[in-house]
Order: sequence, then structure tokens, then C-alpha cells
Amino acid sequence: MSRYSTFEMNIPVQSYLLAIASGNLVERRIGNRTFVISEPEEIEKVANEFSELEDFLSEAERLTIPYEWGVYKLLILPPSFPFGGMENPLLTFASPAIVPGDKSSVDVAIHEIAHSWFGNLVTNNNWTNFWLNEGFTTFLERKTVRNIFGEDFMKVTAKLENQTVYFEILDYGLENGFTSLHPVFNGTHPDEALSDIPYEKGFQFLIYLESLIGEDYMLEFLRSYLKNFAYTSIDVTNFISFFSEYVHQKFTTTDAEEILSKIDFDAWIYAPGLPPITVDFETKEYNDAIELAQSFLDAKANVTSALQIFKSFSVNLKGLFISHLIDNQEIVDDCMAQYIYDTLQLGDEINGEVVFRWLIVAIRSGQLRAPFESADEFVGSIGRMKYVIPVYQAMLDSNAAIAKAIFNKHEDFYHPIAIKAIQDIFSEDVLISA
Ligand SMILES: [Zn+2]
Repeated sequence: MSRYSTFEMNIPVQSYLLAIASGNLVERRIGNRTFVISEPEEIEKVANEFSELEDFLSEAERLTIPYEWGVYKLLILPPSFPFGGMENPLLTFASPAIVPGDKSSVDVAIHEIAHSWFGNLVTNNNWTNFWLNEGFTTFLERKTVRNIFGEDFMKVTAKLENQTVYFEILDYGLENGFTSLHPVFNGTHPDEALSDIPYEKGFQFLIYLESLIGEDYMLEFLRSYLKNFAYTSIDVTNFISFFSEYVHQKFTTTDAEEILSKIDFDAWIYAPGLPPITVDFETKEYNDAIELAQSFLDAKANVTSALQIFKSFSVNLKGLFISHLIDNQEIVDDCMAQYIYDTLQLGDEINGEVVFRWLIVAIRSGQLRAPFESADEFVGSIGRMKYVIPVYQAMLDSNAAIAKAIFNKHEDFYHPIAIKAIQDIFSEDVLISA
């Protein structure tokens, strides 16, 4: 076997997007342009999980401009990979956490596909402008999700993530510069400021702009933005002036000025704190999930129907259900948590999105006490920071010595970025999520 292989990339890419992987890997074509890569034992499961990858790619392409990169390949990494995904062109890296076996986390793959345009084609010129990558990608991800899975599904996802970011902003503090869409690092490592804020506040801002000009114009704007800035790195001022020009082209001077005068760019982009205007994504399903959670909090849950209702929920609705319990944690004692766990058969849940949220409730309520066996097993099996950081935080608040011992046991398993993030919560008690 040759010890050399060569690879030529004819499309310009950013240095942070260069990625190399090696291992016992096999590749399987699952669509015209789409492939999955994993260890041989997993390839069947992975190919099945992402059997619609080509549809996702085609839909994102239909919403934007032709896909530039030829093929799209999704590589499943070992479980220690600290992120859900990383959008390296031609070789997206993904955590096995997004392969639960029931296609319930394919939206992460759609997010990475959306980076083929936002991030990989038009790139932020520094990490202060990170939302130009992530906010726009989240916007395209949700449009694609809506067109494939429906409006309600998209809204539930947006609601869950927007809720997460709301608490992140409060955790940072409303005056903290890292809560703005233009964080200034002053020597701080950008990883320290990694949060959902550029994703979700950025998404909300774009949804707000869309509400002013309408969806057709918004999508047309994004297409001309992509064509205009392809293969370049830009900052927010490029975006603002291009958007203003576009509005002037499409509307009469009076209307354009009226639209633009409504947009408080300073408040949305430069100011810290919550978004100046709240975009609401409530749906009937969302209200059902909250109502069910509230019925447990009020000790009025109908045991026979509760399980059936809960089982009908999507992963994100389950996430919203559990988040409502987390928001009302002071009411949830160990008995109530045990009752909810048994009634809803939460031990059967396989998606990490549900498991990590439930572990927070279980630990904070005292249902799961030190030595936190199931949490220990969970954080030792997956290194995705979104899941493990809040679980470590909950264990730390409950029993710091045991939490530290669990981390010491698993430290060698984690990626260095995750190790640093976990050490940070031990040393500074700062909540970081990604
Ligand atoms: Zn992203």
C-alpha cells in the first residue's frame, strides 16, 4: 500500500477550515453528491441516519445559490469530539451524538450544510464578527428545516435554542460585552466567549430584518450577499452597508428610509444584553409541552395520558418540557423527579439532548445523588461540550469533590478544548456551553 496520498483543493478556503482525518474509515455514497464516512462497524447506522442528506443539501441550495464544493461528505468522529459538528468544506466533522439511531438530530447536519454558504463561502474576518458565520448559518438551517419538516418543527427548535440563549445572556450578565453580537476580546481567547449568542441573537436579528422587508426579498438579499462577498472575509459594516443598499434598490426612497430608520443597528449588534426586540416562536406544540410540565409541577398530571403525550413529542419538545422543569427547579424535589422519571419512562430516552437536560433536573432535585452513577456514565461516554458542561456544573453544585473525581477519571477521554472548558467551571464557576 502506498504511504503517500495527495489532495488538491482548487477552491479557496479559510485556514481554520483545513482538516485532516485518519483512522479505520469507510465511505458510503448516499446521494448524488452526498457521502458519509465512519468506522466500518457504524457505517450502516450512519448511512441510514443521514439517508436524506442529499435532500437537505438540495433544499439549502434552492434557498441560496449553487453549491460550490462539488461533493458533501460527513465524517463521524470518535465520541470525544467536543462539538456537534464542524463544517470543514468537503469533510464535515460530526459527533456520534448526532447519530442516536432515530434521525432525531439531523438538524445538526443541516446546520453544517448551511455553512457551505455562510462561513465557508462568505467568512467573518475575525471572531468578533463570528455571528456573520453562525447567525446566518442558523437562519439558513431553520429555513431549510422549515421547508423539509414544517413550520412548527422549525419554531420549536428556535424556541428551545432562543430560551437557552436567554439564560446564557443572564448568566453572563446583561452588561457583559460577550453578550453582544460584536464581542471585543482584548486578549481573551475567543473560545472563552463561545456561546449560543452569535447563533441565536444573530438568527433573531435576521428574522427581525426579514419581518421588515418580507421573506422573498430577504432570501433574494442573501443570494446577492453571497454572490457579492463569495471567497472574501468581511465584517459587520460590509453587511450593514450592503443591506442598506439593497433596501434602497428594492423600495422607494421614502419606504427604504422608513425601513432602515426602524433598525437600531447599535442596539442589535454592538450593545450587550438581550435582543432589543423579542421574536416569538410559540406554537401549539410548545404550549402542550409547557402545559404537561406544569401539570407535574402542580401535581395534577394525568398519569395515563402523560406518557402518551410525552412519547409523541419531538426531541426539541422534550427539551422544552424538561427546560420548564429546570426553570422551576425549586419546586422539583427528589420524589417529584423520580415520579416524572418513572411516569415518562425517561430511562428509555436515547437522544443526548434529552438525557443531558434530564440529568440536570435529576442532580439538582436530589433524585440522582453522589456518586451520580448515570451522570458519570453519560459524561464518560460523550465529550460534546453542550452536553457535558451543564452536567458537570450540576454535579459541581451538588458535590464538588465527587464531580472533580469523575472529571479526573474521564479527563484522558476528552478533547483538550473540552478539558479546558470543564476546568474553567471548576476554577471559576463560569457556565460555558457550545
Ligand atoms: Zn455553526
